[in-house]
Amino acid sequence: METKKKDIRALTKEQLRQFFVEHGDKAFRGNQVYEWLWQKSAHTFDAMTNVSKETRQMLEDNFVINHIRVDQMQRSSDGTIKNAVRLHDGLVVESVLIPTETRTTACVSSQVGCSLDCRFCATARMKRMRNLNPDEIYDQVVAIDNESRLYFDRPLSNIVFMGMGEPLMNYNNVLKAIEMITSPEGLGMSPRRITVSTSGVPKMIKKMADEEVKFRLAVSLHSAIDEVRTSIMPFNATFPLKDLREALEYWYSKTKNRITYEYVVWKGINDTREAADALVRFCKFAPSKVNLIEYNPIDDGEFQQANADAVEMYQSILESNGITVTVRRSRGKDIDAACGQLANKS
Ligand code: SF4
Repeated sequence: METKKKDIRALTKEQLRQFFVEHGDKAFRGNQVYEWLWQKSAHTFDAMTNVSKETRQMLEDNFVINHIRVDQMQRSSDGTIKNAVRLHDGLVVESVLIPTETRTTACVSSQVGCSLDCRFCATARMKRMRNLNPDEIYDQVVAIDNESRLYFDRPLSNIVFMGMGEPLMNYNNVLKAIEMITSPEGLGMSPRRITVSTSGVPKMIKKMADEEVKFRLAVSLHSAIDEVRTSIMPFNATFPLKDLREALEYWYSKTKNRITYEYVVWKGINDTREAADALVRFCKFAPSKVNLIEYNPIDDGEFQQANADAVEMYQSILESNGITVTVRRSRGKDIDAACGQLANKS
């Protein structure tokens, strides 16, 4: 009976070193192979040219490298690139490269589908099929870094976990991926250039604070009134704003890092003065930044971007209360790559 080979990138460096010792080789060989797997992103054992043919064959007999494959790449008229990424088991996730004058940002997925059920989000319509492994998250970043060098002549500068899935529902794997992305043995990126965006899982926000993570935190808030938030993000009934706020206060007390809130203003849902005042009250306890994001309707018209007056009203109320605001135009709309649009439609 054929036994299933293990994904070699599930092994830590120490386990890989140990493997070589147990197979009569030097522990150092583990370092060499580890470098090929992560820093050099080798897709095959044959690519490991400083490793002997016999050793490569031995690795082939014992392991697989479950590398992702970019099945389809679409380019938007505004330069945004969306990758449809095929995983080793045939499932597909999406990741997006967002270029600006000075930066290239990768928006990566953390789950196939999503465990949550935000009513305005295309991904929520796919059920959660599984969590992504650390190497599958890492590979999305490498693919976008390569595209950034190829099409924009510069390396990737920032990463946001805002693609498919709720990153804090795949906490361990997301943290392991970030560890490799920031490690000198991986991509060596600064954690300050990485933002984990959550819809707000209080227990996990506290856990991150306790672990003194160095990356940035963003919260998809969209309403600071429980009743409204629950109607658009039903899991808010389980994790109400009081608990979220308490977790964020804890986060700030530990990290002293400013909190970013992602916020869409929708017509007839949260485009009132009362809603804007509630947002100010919610985020005043710590230095905050609010990104007012342009919305991309996903079909039936239930959620519509509010008119410009409502967005301006939010902006002026927030600014007059000393809260930093940016109004974010959406990118990649023509290829369904914009926020909340990722649903494997391509
Ligand atoms: S907005 Fe984010 S957390 Fe909510 S359903 Fe979509 S992918 Fe999941």
